[in-house]
Amino acid sequence: MENGVVGRFAPSPSGRMHVGNVFAALMAWLGARSAGGRLVLRIEDLDPRASNPGNSRLLIEDLRWLGLDWDEGPYYQHDRLEVYTEAIEALGGKGLTYPCFCTRAELHAASAPHASDGTYIYPGTCRGLSPSEVAQRSLVRMPAVRLRVPDASDAAGTIAYDDLVCGQHKEALALECGDFLVRRSDGVIAYQLAVVVDDALMGVTQVVRGDDLLGSTARQIYVQRLLGFSQPEYAHVPLVVASDGRRLSKRDRDLDLGAIRGQERGPERLIGQLAAGVGLAEKGETLSADELVERFTWDAVRRRAQDGPIESDGFHFANQE
Ligand code: GLU
Repeated sequence: MENGVVGRFAPSPSGRMHVGNVFAALMAWLGARSAGGRLVLRIEDLDPRASNPGNSRLLIEDLRWLGLDWDEGPYYQHDRLEVYTEAIEALGGKGLTYPCFCTRAELHAASAPHASDGTYIYPGTCRGLSPSEVAQRSLVRMPAVRLRVPDASDAAGTIAYDDLVCGQHKEALALECGDFLVRRSDGVIAYQLAVVVDDALMGVTQVVRGDDLLGSTARQIYVQRLLGFSQPEYAHVPLVVASDGRRLSKRDRDLDLGAIRGQERGPERLIGQLAAGVGLAEKGETLSADELVERFTWDAVRRRAQDGPIESDGFHFANQE
């Protein structure tokens, strides 16, 4: 790559980081640093209901405490509404967007549920509204904005990519999600649009994140192509889950950095346990993120990922000496 790897942290300030977030951040940091690359920090705070400045401050402090540094930022998405609006207008200018008046209840009633993950495929209800219908409905309700995806028979709507960890993927947008939101009806810019615009404008070449976002990647590549951006490489790393397979959430307080830092020790034990989780350290080894740079390979992560999520069972940080 011409200018080297540019990775990024893109946390949402919806709560305290837990060990799963730390694992993904560590992998993003190692992916960039092991290649001699740079990192950007961007706080994804577009949704006012899922963000607060206190959480942003803690995220930044937690990354510092972990020894995961960055070279640029923090950028805050709420300061960047103009660039997202421009991108939506550019897509609109090509006739690729349309206003959608469907309510949540209508969407659930009319849409075909997606077989694997319970999300819905938009059936195109508002695709063909006439200008007068749009005008009429706009009096009653603020529309969301959707991006058209090509029909299933059109090759442009099938996105293939090669993930550094998960290997080859191929997705037909019309069959996986249908036309998707770029702006919500409450005016909030959709994640799928903002993340693409930001990664491109910030020069990001390597996107490392939890594999719960694997299913968003095809949509993001589609938006990149429409806007003429180049495609970064993707690495979707395993999630850290509770012993019953459940995703970690705000309920797992003992695995968040508030509890872990409350023990007034350094980050080395946590980093060591996460590194051991992907075979980069021995069990029980304590070490800093810096010390891992030399050991890191995507091969190790790829091998570990084949065994599925990482169980947090083995992590006992709180209430231990
Ligand atoms: N802000 C997202 C999150 O915290 C991550 C987005 C991304 O990495 O693309 O889950």
